Amino acid sequence: MHLLEKAPAKINLSLDVLYKRPDNFHEIEMVMTTIDLADRIELTPLASDRIIIESENQFVPNDERNLAYRAAKLLKDTYRIDKGVKIFIEKNIPVAAGLAGGSSDAAAVLRGLNRMWSMGLSTREMADLGAKIGSDISFCVYNTTALAKGRGERIKELPAPPSCWVVLAKPTIGVSTQSIYKNLKLDNVTHPDTKGMMEALRKNDFELMCRKVGNVLESVTLSLYPEVEQIKNQMEQAGAEAVLMSGSGPTVFSLVQQESRAYRIYNSLRGFCEEVYVVRMLGYRQPLD
Ligand code: ATP
Repeated sequence: MHLLEKAPAKINLSLDVLYKRPDNFHEIEMVMTTIDLADRIELTPLASDRIIIESENQFVPNDERNLAYRAAKLLKDTYRIDKGVKIFIEKNIPVAAGLAGGSSDAAAVLRGLNRMWSMGLSTREMADLGAKIGSDISFCVYNTTALAKGRGERIKELPAPPSCWVVLAKPTIGVSTQSIYKNLKLDNVTHPDTKGMMEALRKNDFELMCRKVGNVLESVTLSLYPEVEQIKNQMEQAGAEAVLMSGSGPTVFSLVQQESRAYRIYNSLRGFCEEVYVVRMLGYRQPLD
């Protein structure tokens, strides 16, 4: 008897860094949404009081370094639950890609265990708990479209984006989020129009959404990793209606309305980039499997 929970990847439609706070964290403002590229989390109750992580992906840690493990442990410790669980992670989201794969797995574990152990926690309670492990986890608990402020843990739900295709490409480089923030010079950046993006979502206006995509970290990553810029150019030339880097990168995504155009972009990148995906935009809460 096991329980399944979907853990979709997130993309940033806009990402702004407002200032560096006295506690050394950055105050950020992001419009985030989900796409139909998801890990699949399988939770199986154990007779013993343990947390076991299993995955076939060699890049996914199977111990307390795994965010999914830490989510289960925090839930158990906070609510004094002496039950065990095996967490199997079917990894479909590229790792260390700027798509919040690990955070989404952790959020799915919180949602799943809340059901499996009949805990009756609200989304807000799970999101607050998740924020203790990582700032993207709150958004992932909501699993919808939202404005995230603070360190990313203050969530305001927004309407889902207009439906469209999302083509993603991840170059085979690892990008350290820390190093991108270290190289960010806030007095010399173009800030995205977050309000304009929220208006596009409220109006369900695809063209306006495409005009308003923006990521303050993009120019930093692009200057350090020219291959990310190459992918952006390639997507633009193949007819993307919007192109943006997600998070601190290195994944770049494009938005298009027509399926044929999505596959034109996909084909133009294959052979040039190893990991390319064509998926639908989601942005709303997913029914359970
Ligand atoms: P973000 O967009 O939130 O910055 P990311 O997509 O860049 O995240 P992840 O895929 O979450 O990055 O992985 C970053 C690192 O976290 C990995 O190198 C891995 O060692 C570790 N990690 C911990 N738990 C997981 C998990 N469940 N899945 C993948 N990586 C995990």
